Amino acid sequence: MTEFDVIAHYFSQNFPKRTDVILGIGDDAALCTGPNGMQIVVCIDTLVEGIHFPVKTAPADIGYKALAVNLSDLAAMGATPAWMTLALTCPEMNETWLKGFSQGLLELAKKAQVSLIGGDTTRGPLTITIQITGLVPEGQALQRSGAQPGDGIYVTGTLGDAGLGLASIQQQLKLPVLIQEIVESRLNRPTPRLEIGQALRGIASSAIDISDGLIADLGHILKASGVGATLQRENLPLSIALSESLPLAQAQDLALSAGDDYELCFTVPPQQDLALQKRLKTGSYTRIGTIKTGNALHCLDEKGQIFVPQKKGYQHF
Ligand code: ADP
Ligand code: MG
Repeated sequence: MTEFDVIAHYFSQNFPKRTDVILGIGDDAALCTGPNGMQIVVCIDTLVEGIHFPVKTAPADIGYKALAVNLSDLAAMGATPAWMTLALTCPEMNETWLKGFSQGLLELAKKAQVSLIGGDTTRGPLTITIQITGLVPEGQALQRSGAQPGDGIYVTGTLGDAGLGLASIQQQLKLPVLIQEIVESRLNRPTPRLEIGQALRGIASSAIDISDGLIADLGHILKASGVGATLQRENLPLSIALSESLPLAQAQDLALSAGDDYELCFTVPPQQDLALQKRLKTGSYTRIGTIKTGNALHCLDEKGQIFVPQKKGYQHF
């Protein structure tokens, strides 16, 4: 297969069609219509084999995750996805690999209604870059910089599952098969919280997606907003899979420090509490702390004592 056969066969058909795409794959560049009253949100993320995903990851999972991590960035901005381009570098044109990869990518592209409007295909070490464009009503994008003292700190879903999935894949511990499947799927197929991100427009004072771990990513909000925070360790949302697999303290360490969960962390001023409860489904998010003055992030244990979190929880296995 030539490069052009590959593009025609795996990346041209089947992807969602959008009326705002004037010119898609096939020309020197793509051409899209920017809708009135909306701002354009752009981001890009690269996955390198062996660094962002383990070498033996299924091709369909790689395709899925490459898009998921980009959608997660749009979710954290409160944006709606529209168009993407794909830069694919692989050592060879392996049809089994390409089929799996394009199917995984397509599966999530359909769910999120993203058009694939172009890309680049080259030979080299396996590397996948997706650039994605989303739309947000003018002035309503969620940013990292708006948190104020007194705001509640919240996260979506549960934390630490992807970290446990990675530990399991790296054979640092042995899990029951069912739990292993759940947590490895949390690592390989993260759920971008797009609906929640969009629902938070006009409500959240700041937002970020958790790719590097809660402590690290909440730290970005604190720095950008010029504030501090306290976190209550007992409020961290843990899945049943995680709490049944590890002693509580280790599970909490993972929830604080492990990356790859792609949940959202966001802050909400007290006067928006009611709006928040109305907008989001009960159980889809959890309050874990409060924004404070200053610049320190204090983690409090069950007795209200400050403790220093273990930075790399999963290394304890
Ligand atoms: P150029 O030489 O102008 O860079 P290419 O030959 O690289 O064009 O690509 C031809 C067309 O195929 C372009 O429209 C490009 O956007 C698209 N394309 C190339 N690789 C991919 C890919 N992996 N996925 C989607 N579209 C691609
Ligand atoms: Mg090219």
